[in-house]
Amino acid sequence: AGRFVAAVQVVALAGDRVLVLVEDRTAQIRLDDVRRDFVANVSHELKTPVGAIALLAETLTEAADDPDAVRTFAERMGRESRRLSGLVQDIIDLSRLQDADVNLESRAVPADEIVREAISRASVEARARDIAIHAGSGRDLALQGDPGLLVTALRNLLDNALRYSEPGTRIAVGVRQGDDDLVEIAVVDQGIGIDPENLPRVFERFYRVDPARSRLTGGTGLGLSIVKHVAADHGGEVTVWSTPGRGSTFTLRIPAATVPPPESTTEAPA
Ligand code: ADP
Repeated sequence: AGRFVAAVQVVALAGDRVLVLVEDRTAQIRLDDVRRDFVANVSHELKTPVGAIALLAETLTEAADDPDAVRTFAERMGRESRRLSGLVQDIIDLSRLQDADVNLESRAVPADEIVREAISRASVEARARDIAIHAGSGRDLALQGDPGLLVTALRNLLDNALRYSEPGTRIAVGVRQGDDDLVEIAVVDQGIGIDPENLPRVFERFYRVDPARSRLTGGTGLGLSIVKHVAADHGGEVTVWSTPGRGSTFTLRIPAATVPPPESTTEAPA
C-alpha cells in the first residue's frame, strides 16, 4: 500500500527553466499487479482438479480388479470434473463482466421472475441438502437490467447460502423497494455465518474463509466476486451482514425499472 509510481519526462529546456511532465502510473501498475495475481490464482486453481483427475485415472487403472475401489475413484473423478467445469464457467462469467464494453441487456424485469428462476435452478441442490427455500413476493416490483446476469447473481447467493448451511435449516428470499430507487433482493440463511474480520474480504476473487469447506462443497472462490461485478455493472451494489454461528444476509440492490415490464411475461429469462 502507498506505493506511488510515476513516469517522469523532461519535456523542454529553455534557459534556466525546465518543463518536467510527471505522469501518475500508480493505477496502471496496480491493475497489472491485479491481473498477474488473477492469472497466477487461476492457474493454481485449475491445476488442482486437473492434477487430481490425472492421479485418480492412474490409480483407477491399477485398481481395475477391485470394484469398490473403482467406484470410489470414479465418483471422486466425477466430483473433481464438476468442480473444474464450475470453475471454468465462473472464470468465463467473471472475465466477461470485467470487460469494460460488456454488452448488458437492459430491460424491465419483474423481481419475481428473477427470484423464481434462480430458486428453480438451485432447487435440486436444496432438495439434496434438505434445506427449504422460501420466497416472499416482490408484488409488482421490477428491476432494470440484464435478466440472465441478475439470475446468475442471485443463483450465486443461493448456492452460497446452501453451501454454508446445515441440513434442516431454511433460506428466505425477500424482495422490497429500497431507498434511492433501488429494488432490494435479500437472501437470508441460518448457516455458519462469517467472522467480522473476514467480512470485508469475502467479495475478493478467490478469497475463502475456510478453503477446505469451500472446496469440499464445490466452491470456486469466485461466486461473490461475480455477484459484486453484476451489481456494479447495473449501477447497484451487494452488501452482507452476518452473525457467526447464526447466519448471513446478502442483499443485492439493483436500480428499479424505469418503465413497467410488459404485461404478463410468460417467458423465463435466458
Ligand atoms: P466460494 O466458492 O468459496 O463459496 P464465494 O466468492 O462465493 O466463494 O464466497 C467467498 C467466501 O465467503 C466463501 O468461501 C465463504 O467462506 C464465505 N461465504 C460466502 N457466502 C457465505 C454464506 N452465505 N455463509 C457463510 N459464509 C459465506
